[in-house]
Amino acid sequence: MKVLVINCGSSSLKYQLIDSETEQVLAKGLCERIGIDGRLTYSPTGGEKKVFEDPLPDHTVAVGKVLDCLTHPEYGVVASLAEIGAVGHRIVHGGEKFAAATLLTEEAITEIEKCSELAPLHNPANVIGIRACQKLMPGVPMVGVFDTAFHQTMPPKAFLYSLPYEYYEKYGVRRYGFHGTSHSYVSKRAAEILGKDVKDLKIIVCHLGNGASICAVDGGKSVDTSMGFTPLEGLTMGTRSGGLDPAILEFIAGKENLSLDQVLTILNKKSGVQGISGVSSDFRDLESAAAEGNTRAQAALDVFTYRVAKFVGYYAAAMNGVDVVVFTAGIGENDISVRATILSYLGFLGCKLDPEANNIRGEERIISTPDSKVIAMVIPTNEELAIARETVAIVNK
Ligand code: AMP
Repeated sequence: MKVLVINCGSSSLKYQLIDSETEQVLAKGLCERIGIDGRLTYSPTGGEKKVFEDPLPDHTVAVGKVLDCLTHPEYGVVASLAEIGAVGHRIVHGGEKFAAATLLTEEAITEIEKCSELAPLHNPANVIGIRACQKLMPGVPMVGVFDTAFHQTMPPKAFLYSLPYEYYEKYGVRRYGFHGTSHSYVSKRAAEILGKDVKDLKIIVCHLGNGASICAVDGGKSVDTSMGFTPLEGLTMGTRSGGLDPAILEFIAGKENLSLDQVLTILNKKSGVQGISGVSSDFRDLESAAAEGNTRAQAALDVFTYRVAKFVGYYAAAMNGVDVVVFTAGIGENDISVRATILSYLGFLGCKLDPEANNIRGEERIISTPDSKVIAMVIPTNEELAIARETVAIVNK
């Protein structure tokens, strides 16, 4: 079956067409500046990348243009839309309602809309993407795959905040966690590569990208993760603060004469390694600046790696042990020195880095020595493939 995977934001839409039998990507691309002016990129596998600057006034037009590209007689990859058997939609927030991927019935879409309060920037955009696809591909089954679903196995001791319990009961204030599709895919893949059953492994997945989170996966289930009620909690990120003393919000608001909203924007968009360094949110820039003696860039790298290492320590304690630590996403897959620094903190667990094996980017590889007590690995994430797999599983049910 050919599955169209859609990741829809408020003004953008990423897509991939995946052949689920061969697991090959047939074409992929991105619609940007939807509702502003419009830019569509289309890359058929083995063919030439194309860029169209036609107007994209709304998401339905954007999806229409994507479908035109995919079925184009000259550069398309399918003869007609009838070849697309299903659409898999990435949905950010499934609240407590969705612990797994689901067929997008009207009832399910209504539930997703109800979760919008928990993800006001993301869920409404996800629903717009679903509606656009429904309009242009009537009768094609659509499946929602949730970023939060994998973490629904967290026990109350991991998901409850130490707040009055009624806020959880009345408003759903709890830890949900994100990047679940990635944590699930990477932990399963780690077990496959090691030739073991995921049920027999305690795995810590470090998803280190512009957004970053860590997940403790015990026996194949998420038992704790670093992001919380929103994707702001936990690690230091590209531009997000991660965890901090909440009293700082009021203090900064008072000092800088800002509203709570403005302080939250700073925590989301102007903090993290960008905020500390004043240089960039991109680790390549930070490393060149640090190499030239920029002490704030070095401080940003130090805060980032130290916090990741501390979370690995928390989760080793949470699972009463750890067999495998996996690095994934942009920084985890590519940043050799960040991986080496993080692993240098984990000697107490008996984790020994093999510097030569670590000298790779974007490949599946064991990077610890054969006698290391904890196996360290790099596994590139593939959220689109994971969404396509889940979509096929639901459609075939
Ligand atoms: P993601 O959000 O997973 O796409 O990750 C994006 C981030 O990965 C970028 O902001 C960079 O900080 C980081 N990154 C990508 N390539 C490299 C590289 N070769 N070396 C270090 N960091 C990288």
